[in-house]
Amino acid sequence: MEPTPPIEFGVPVKDLTERFSSRIDVPNAIIEQLATICRSSRDAEQLAEHARDWWPLSMYWALRGSVPAFPAIVMHPTTTKEISEIAAVCHEKQIPLTVSGGRSGVSGGAVPARGGIVIDVTSLHGIVDVDTTSGIVHVRPGTFGPDLESELAEYGLSVGHFPQSFELSTVGGWIAARGAGQFSTRYGKIDDMVVALEVVLADGRVIRTGGAPAGADGPDLVSLFIGSEGTLGIITDVWLRAHPRATTTTHAAYSLDSMEIGIEACRRIVRDGATPAVLRLYDAIESKRSHGGDGTRCTLLVLDEGDDELTRATMAVVHRHTLDLGARIEDTSLVEHWLNHRNDTSGLQALTRKGYVVDTMEVAGPWSSLPGVYATVRDSMSKVPASRSVSAHLSHSYLDGACLYFTFAGDKVEDPEALYRALWDAGQRAALSAGANLSHHHGVGLNRSRFMREALGSSFDVLGSIKRALDPHNILNPGKLGFDDSDPWP
Ligand SMILES: Cc1cc2nc3c(=O)[nH]c(=O)nc-3n(C[C@H](O)[C@H](O)[C@H](O)COP(=O)(O)OP(=O)(O)OC[C@H]3O[C@@H](n4cnc5c(N)ncnc54)[C@H](O)[C@@H]3O)c2cc1C
Repeated sequence: MEPTPPIEFGVPVKDLTERFSSRIDVPNAIIEQLATICRSSRDAEQLAEHARDWWPLSMYWALRGSVPAFPAIVMHPTTTKEISEIAAVCHEKQIPLTVSGGRSGVSGGAVPARGGIVIDVTSLHGIVDVDTTSGIVHVRPGTFGPDLESELAEYGLSVGHFPQSFELSTVGGWIAARGAGQFSTRYGKIDDMVVALEVVLADGRVIRTGGAPAGADGPDLVSLFIGSEGTLGIITDVWLRAHPRATTTTHAAYSLDSMEIGIEACRRIVRDGATPAVLRLYDAIESKRSHGGDGTRCTLLVLDEGDDELTRATMAVVHRHTLDLGARIEDTSLVEHWLNHRNDTSGLQALTRKGYVVDTMEVAGPWSSLPGVYATVRDSMSKVPASRSVSAHLSHSYLDGACLYFTFAGDKVEDPEALYRALWDAGQRAALSAGANLSHHHGVGLNRSRFMREALGSSFDVLGSIKRALDPHNILNPGKLGFDDSDPWP
């Protein structure tokens, strides 16, 4: 599969300009040397597409004729050896090297912020092997969601990772951005699915880490690369856990008096050990927008799948707790409607085309803090001048807490970039101060780099030390995860 472009460019590709001014020029001799390693492209269209991803601000820029930063060349390797050779050249010559998968990231993670080389890993695709006894699939990192799941279905298996961007994103991108699928309350985040990784380090060395269901052989190095967003290594091979495909699916829908009561219902359900694959609670604004009603009640959508006896028991726990909290039973067609429209991205693109600043901010926090996170973020963002709307839903639940996913929009203003920044500053800082983390699954990329130290405190220094040890010349995806003193988008 080819990556799907987020939005059309507002000018011919040859007239596109660059937003960032920190691009490092790559001498022609190096480009020629790299071009001998594998297929590569300097075609204007390819350079333009690899200059951006689905970061909403870069979509806004694209319509107005600019991209964040162009790469000098796009490489299309098909083997680990080729990637290792490219990395070794970039390490020796100190050339920026950014990896891209489906480029569906919404934080600017795949943008080559300092130019240089882009390695497009989508030519490393397909399932290599399936261990059906253990339920482990060996898959190349550039495999898109539908290709992975349709081939696995022939073995009666499913990984269970279904992000909204399922069709736009790759296995390597899921791991590098530490993503979450819509069925995560049953199957977990991608963090829970990775068995082992092969990684090419900045200097071209190849390592393999992990491989058993659990271990005590020192700290877990697999985790080091999950969420590293291409800054610590290039993921070139992946082993994932897979589940038997579900035989039964059950749906239920409720509405509750308030977001706080809904959060309490989700907490009780999950604390009692029930983990329905989908447990989505919408605040009153989103409930009205998506499910109708008078805008006073909060919809809870529940879907479970798997073994018949387990799903019946799970749904019984859900039913008991929601009714105990005064829920009204709603028609399950709400769940079917969500299932049929859940991956539709046209709304975001339409609003961007109309000139609105629209984005989403997802954070996770413990149950005890969650009502406060919801109220504080909503209030803080709403107070930003020209803020138009702020709403949220709860979309991924865990034993100790959950993810809140905020959607916000600003009015049409003279300086939309400044408004975008102000909304993020207000929302992200409110979330951190109320006890949430920096990101639940969209990652850091460019957009959240400026918050990394605030979010991680002194442990950020440890991350910095690891970065310097693994990538002393800072060639891997520079400008991301807050590692650079001078951010390209500060
Ligand atoms: C409409 C829409 C809905 C979305 N919904 C979800 C959702 O439900 N859940 C979710 O988790 N995310 C979601 N996302 C965000 C995005 O799809 C995820 O972050 C996804 O995991 C990115 O995968 P990708 O292949 O597109 O990676 P890219 O965007 O190409 O890259 C993402 C980051 O990973 C790095 N990277 C990519 N491949 C590798 C590799 N092989 N080795 C090392 N680093 C690598 C890149 O350098 C970059 O930093 C959504 C995005 C969109 C546009």
